[in-house]
Amino acid sequence: MMSFDGVVIGAGHNGLTLAAYLARAGMKIAVLERNPRLGGGCSTDGDQLPGFRLNLHANFYMGLSRCPLIEDLELFRYGFSYIEPPVQQAAVFRDGTGIVIHKDLDKTCASLARFSKQDAETFRELWHTYCVEMRPLLVSLLYNAPLPREQLLDRLSGPQAKELLSHAQHDLFSVVRKHFVDERIRTLFTSYMHVITTEDVAGAGIVFPAIFANIASFTLPAGGAVSLVNALARAVEAGEGEVVTGADVKEIMVKNGRATGVKLADGKTIEGSKFVASAIDFPRTVQMAGEELFPEPVCEKAKAWHWGNHSLVTLHLALRQAPAYRAEAFDPDIARAYNIFFGMENIDEVASCFDDCAAKKFPKVLMGNGACNSQFDPTYAPSGRHSAFWWPFAPYSVDGGPQNWERHRADYSKRVLEYWRVYASNLDDRNVLGSYLFTPLDIDRLNSNMRQGAVRMGAYVPNQLGINRPHPLLPGSRTPVEGLYLCGSSSGNGGGVNGAPGYIAANAIADDLRLKRPWIPVPPPEWRH
Ligand SMILES: Cc1cc2nc3c(=O)[nH]c(=O)nc-3n(C[C@H](O)[C@H](O)[C@H](O)COP(=O)(O)OP(=O)(O)OC[C@H]3O[C@@H](n4cnc5c(N)ncnc54)[C@H](O)[C@@H]3O)c2cc1C
Repeated sequence: MMSFDGVVIGAGHNGLTLAAYLARAGMKIAVLERNPRLGGGCSTDGDQLPGFRLNLHANFYMGLSRCPLIEDLELFRYGFSYIEPPVQQAAVFRDGTGIVIHKDLDKTCASLARFSKQDAETFRELWHTYCVEMRPLLVSLLYNAPLPREQLLDRLSGPQAKELLSHAQHDLFSVVRKHFVDERIRTLFTSYMHVITTEDVAGAGIVFPAIFANIASFTLPAGGAVSLVNALARAVEAGEGEVVTGADVKEIMVKNGRATGVKLADGKTIEGSKFVASAIDFPRTVQMAGEELFPEPVCEKAKAWHWGNHSLVTLHLALRQAPAYRAEAFDPDIARAYNIFFGMENIDEVASCFDDCAAKKFPKVLMGNGACNSQFDPTYAPSGRHSAFWWPFAPYSVDGGPQNWERHRADYSKRVLEYWRVYASNLDDRNVLGSYLFTPLDIDRLNSNMRQGAVRMGAYVPNQLGINRPHPLLPGSRTPVEGLYLCGSSSGNGGGVNGAPGYIAANAIADDLRLKRPWIPVPPPEWRH
């Protein structure tokens, strides 16, 4: 039996974040990954379209300039870097118009004002509130364990806090209607909220301020999404840690109510004398440890875990020339935009796409966002070529089952490309050198943590947000099993590449084991203005 201070299940960025922090605190950690490659949702493929780098899952890393991991773990030193394009986002429409979000506030407002002066002013106010004044609070909320409602209300007071919390009354569409009047601008914002995979249910509007705060902090990981996890793995190994691939954990060993290690599919056991942390989904963690160790309501919730109604299908293209959008004639900055939305003309079309996904049907309206990464980092494609992708929303199970994706792979690929051509007319056969469709079924196959093609390892619905993620009886990453912690995206503050669940669990373990931290924790949330 191999023996470590701590064992981490899953070498996605959250498991590696936790391991890298605790390795810095002097612990000997093993990170166990079932796949031959580490990274989970931070993966870069070089095989499907040889010479072109495809980020199969996460592409847009958000809010990195305020992410504590970068400096605490010296990730630049271990080879991670990112690019933050000045023209951040655009939404383009069939009539050739488009809205552009810049890093520069005045330029964004000028673009919005072409559609609605009132919305441009609203955007300016929201920007000052959420991207400037309250940004430190939003960072504190993200990187601290979610608090019960009463404790949160105790810590947040004043008119701005009241306004922030008032979003909890809203569903996705009403929160956007509350702020904006123009149909196009509303269309952009509902699409943007859905991209973060918020479900359209009452209460989900609470995520609006946090999502808005990142609207102009989209970054591209240089060299590929995998560069982040590679840097984290180096940080683990720079301590006394090991990252082991091909290690499929089947069981969490528990003795006298305490987690003692894990058992692998090949029968090997690995001891974690001080802790076991699970960076995989909450329902499977409960099963691996044994349902009898958890209270009934936790087991019930694990069984009924909502993975989300919508997943993503991605068409990756190898190109001679970057996509040229017709809307560039309306606003030339669209040619320099990093994240591009298209496919939806109005809120009704956004709603129709998500209704179809919820009904497990191929959507009539294809809509979503994408990018041409090689425009910003030439290493994403061979010299003089481009790589681009578009990921319209799609359900996991279609017309009776997820296997239908296989049957429809070729025709769906064609359909997505035809749709894309409506907006970018230069995507003709001469320009397109190759394509690869990555379906929701492929997501699940490649990463067993992304069950049912789940993008966030659990839908963003009020019952799975904040203290409810995964359950109020498992607060602050801890479980009823002593020494067993949750550090994956179905815990903490959820999915997306920010390392928050891993960071929160690392702090919980450091507290419980009274470790001397070589980092200064993000202060707890507080607002009394
Ligand atoms: C198509 C798509 C696009 C996305 N785009 C974005 C984006 O642009 N920006 C963004 O921020 N987020 C995006 N996301 C979400 C993001 O990828 C995830 O939220 C994030 O990667 C989750 O990280 P994690 O460390 O929690 O889990 P994961 O990355 O899933 O890591 C878990 C790891 O555990 C391993 N594992 C599972 N079971 C076992 C086991 N039994 N034993 C050992 N190992 C195991 C898995 O193989 C995996 O490597 C996207 C997701 C998808 C699917």
